[in-house]
Amino acid sequence: MSSDENGEVIVIGGGVIGWSTALTLAWRGRRVRVWSRDPVERTTSAVAGALWWPYRIDPQDRVGPWSLRSLRLYEEWAARPDETGVRMVEGVHAGTRLDGLGSWASEVAGLRDAAHGLAARLPLIDMPVHLRRLRDAAQEAGVVVETRTVRSLDEALAEAPAVVNCTGLGARELVPDPAVRPVRGQLVVVRNPGVRTWYTAADEHAEATTYFFPQPGGLILGGTAQDGDGSLEPDPAVAAAIVRRCAAVRPEIAGARVLGHRVGLRPARTEVRVERETTASGQVLVHNYGHGGAGVTVAWGCAEEAAGLVGSV
Ligand SMILES: Cc1cc2nc3c(=O)[nH]c(=O)nc-3n(C[C@H](O)[C@H](O)[C@H](O)COP(=O)(O)OP(=O)(O)OC[C@H]3O[C@@H](n4cnc5c(N)ncnc54)[C@H](O)[C@@H]3O)c2cc1C
Repeated sequence: MSSDENGEVIVIGGGVIGWSTALTLAWRGRRVRVWSRDPVERTTSAVAGALWWPYRIDPQDRVGPWSLRSLRLYEEWAARPDETGVRMVEGVHAGTRLDGLGSWASEVAGLRDAAHGLAARLPLIDMPVHLRRLRDAAQEAGVVVETRTVRSLDEALAEAPAVVNCTGLGARELVPDPAVRPVRGQLVVVRNPGVRTWYTAADEHAEATTYFFPQPGGLILGGTAQDGDGSLEPDPAVAAAIVRRCAAVRPEIAGARVLGHRVGLRPARTEVRVERETTASGQVLVHNYGHGGAGVTVAWGCAEEAAGLVGSV
């Protein structure tokens, strides 16, 4: 069957997972509609720092290949940083060693043990710019975009033979899937006092982490990973502690002017769910949610797998 004969696909969700899935389907010749409750600026994806790195995400055996697929695309897009928001930037993962990582690490050029940890040149993504670019690219590829809150997956299945559920934390109520839970992350944006490299010292199991990412709009300081906390209000005490921890690494950060605060809720799940269901009437429902702390890192590998699961309905 040629792609023209295939029915439309509705993608629910307009974060990094929804846009990457919609674009992949459109590039494969499918007619696609995106339904999103929120504009891109108000998604979790817009809050992310965002460094390419598999952090707080499982299962490891699938995360490696998904991440590497995205890495190849980000490396290409880094040739046009102003348009795509993607840059290759040097930095250090303090306290991390090569031999503690999965086999995927051998495919990452330039990853090397250094004095204080793991040195690397990795994609750093300015998410507000990048998400707008994905949305515009989707529209250029013919994707129809609608602002719409979905109350039940049947609403979408009533309008198209195939639906992809990319609702992130929203899947908790929509599926419903109680395995999805928020892991709160708070960030502080300061005027950059001259920091050109990124730094992380992020223990996967700690609530308080320490990292900074130089973005064009300022230096992003992190962070927290507060399991089960669903508050989107920035906490001033938490913000002050973030600045203190980052300034202990780079003292010039202590006096940097605060430009803003960001809070987001990572859509955590024991395992990312990329899976196909077939309804009694033969329609296809593909799930693509639960990407925790690394949705930007794995987005394109997951999108390609989800698009493959849609098949030719
Ligand atoms: C502080 C912080 C820092 C992070 N840093 C990084 C990083 O450095 N690197 C990295 O790879 N990842 C990072 N992440 C994780 C990353 O942001 C997430 O994994 C990713 O954004 C999840 O994308 P998503 O599209 O699934 O969810 P979202 O961006 O939340 O998008 C969900 C979409 O679904 C829509 N939706 C939900 N429910 C409904 C409904 N009922 N009807 C219609 N639409 C609905 C929403 O409107 C939205 O458009 C970070 C996260 C946080 C919070």
